[in-house]
Amino acid sequence: MTNETWGQIREGLINRVGKNNYVTWIEPLKLSHMKNGVARFEVPTTFFGDWVQRNFADHIRSHLMTAGATIDRIEFAVGTLTAGPRPAPRPEAAKAARVRAASEDELPGAPLDARFTFDSFVVGKPNELAHAAARRVAEGDTVTFNPLFLYGGVGLGKTHLMHAIAHELQARRPDLRVLYLSAEQFMYRFIQALRDKQVMDFKSLFRSVDVLMVDDVQFIAGKDSTQEEFFHTFNALVDQNKQIVISADRAPGEIKDLEERIRSRLQCGLVVDLHPTDYELRLGILQQKADFYREQYRGLVIADGVLEFLAHRITTNVRVLEGALTRLFAFASLVGREITLDLAQDCLADILRASDRKLTIEEIQRKVAEHYNVRLSDMIGPKRMRTIARPRQVAMYLAKQLTSRSLPEIGRRFGGRDHTTIMHGVRKIEELMAIDSQLADDLQLLKRLLQG
Ligand code: ADP
Ligand code: MG
Repeated sequence: MTNETWGQIREGLINRVGKNNYVTWIEPLKLSHMKNGVARFEVPTTFFGDWVQRNFADHIRSHLMTAGATIDRIEFAVGTLTAGPRPAPRPEAAKAARVRAASEDELPGAPLDARFTFDSFVVGKPNELAHAAARRVAEGDTVTFNPLFLYGGVGLGKTHLMHAIAHELQARRPDLRVLYLSAEQFMYRFIQALRDKQVMDFKSLFRSVDVLMVDDVQFIAGKDSTQEEFFHTFNALVDQNKQIVISADRAPGEIKDLEERIRSRLQCGLVVDLHPTDYELRLGILQQKADFYREQYRGLVIADGVLEFLAHRITTNVRVLEGALTRLFAFASLVGREITLDLAQDCLADILRASDRKLTIEEIQRKVAEHYNVRLSDMIGPKRMRTIARPRQVAMYLAKQLTSRSLPEIGRRFGGRDHTTIMHGVRKIEELMAIDSQLADDLQLLKRLLQG
C-alpha cells in the first residue's frame, strides 16, 4: 500500500474518530512503509506519535485490515523515515561528555514515559511481587539482588515498572546515573559504535552507569555479537556492584538462542514474573483510569456496571483494556452521551469480539445440567416435563446471550430443534426472569461461572 492509497482509504476513519480528531490527528499522518505486518507512519513530533498510538492506533489498524492489509503493529517515526536510534554523539562530544559532571542527558537512554510511575501502577495479586522488588530497587541503596529480572506476557506492566524505577531514582538519588533502554536500542547503539569505530566509547559509557535497565532482553537472543557485548557490560557492572534491571517476555530459561552463560547470570539475581491479570486488578486499573478521564472530560457520566463489564470481558492485556476505556471516553464525549453498557458494547464491538473467550454451547449445556441436576442428554433430548424443559430453556437463553451463535445454529446443538423453538425458550426465560428472583439469581450465578 502506498501513501496515495492510504490517502484514499483513511477517510473512512472520519466515522470512527470524528471530524475533529480526523483533521487533527489522522490527516497529518504519512504512511512511510508497510511490511512484515508493520505499518509505519511519519509524524511531526514524538508527542504526536504517542498520542495517535494511544488513541487511534487500534482504529487505524482495524481500518487497514478492513482494506485488506495484514497489520500486527502500527509504528510512528518522527521526521523523514528515520527508523531506529538517534545518531550517536560525535567523537568530540562523547569525550567532552565524559569529563562533564554526570547529568542525565548524556546517557543514550530511551525517553521515559511520564505517566509510568509507581503512583499510577495498580498493585494486585498478580504483580505484587514484581512491584515490591521494583520498589526495593528504586530506593537506590546497596543492591540486594542483582539483576532484578522481570518477566511476563505483553502488556502486563514490565515497561511501566522499569520507568517507575527510573523516575523514582531520579527523584531520590539524582546523583546516580540511571540508564534505561530497550535491548533493541542497545543493539543499535552497539552496531553503530562498531561502524563508527567507537567501541571503546560505547564500552566506557555503559560501564559508567550506576543503574542499567534493559527492556525486552529476549530481543538479543540469537544476535551473537550483541549478546557478547551485553554479557561483558553486564559482568562489568555486576562486578562494580551496580544495579541491573532486565525485563523479558519469558523466564531466562525459556529464551531460545540465549547463550548459556548469559542465562545463568540472569538467573543469579531475583527472577520475578508478572502473572496474567485477574478480575480485581483489571477493575482496579479501570477505576484508576476512569477517575483520570472523569477529570479530563468533565461532566461525562459512566453508568454503574460498565467498568465491571469491561474488566470481565477484556482479559487479554492491560494495554487493550486501557485502549478500550480511552476510546469509550473519547467517543462518549464526542457524541455527548452517558457511557452506558449499550454504548460500550457498540463502541467496543471489535475489541470485545476479539477478546471473546470462545464459550461453546456444550459447555453451557453441561454447566446448566450440573446446576439443575439433570442429565446432559436430557438437555438435547425430547422430554417435555418442566423439570427438564426449564433448564433446557435456561441453557438456550445463555447460549444466545453468551455466544455469537445464531438461533438456527443453537437449534442444531439442542438436538436439531427449530430456531423458533429456541426463540420461544429465550423469550420465556426473559419473561420469567423479571418475576422469578430465584431464576434471576440462577442466571447470574451461571453467567459468572461460565465467564469467570
Ligand atoms: P509490558 O512492558 O509488560 O508489555 P507495559 O508496561 O507497556 O507492558 O504496560 C502496558 C500498559 O498497561 C501501559 O500503559 C501501562 O501503564 C499499563 N499497565 C500495565 N499494568 C498496570 C498496572 N498494574 N497499573 C496501571 N497500569 C498498568
Ligand atoms: Mg514493554
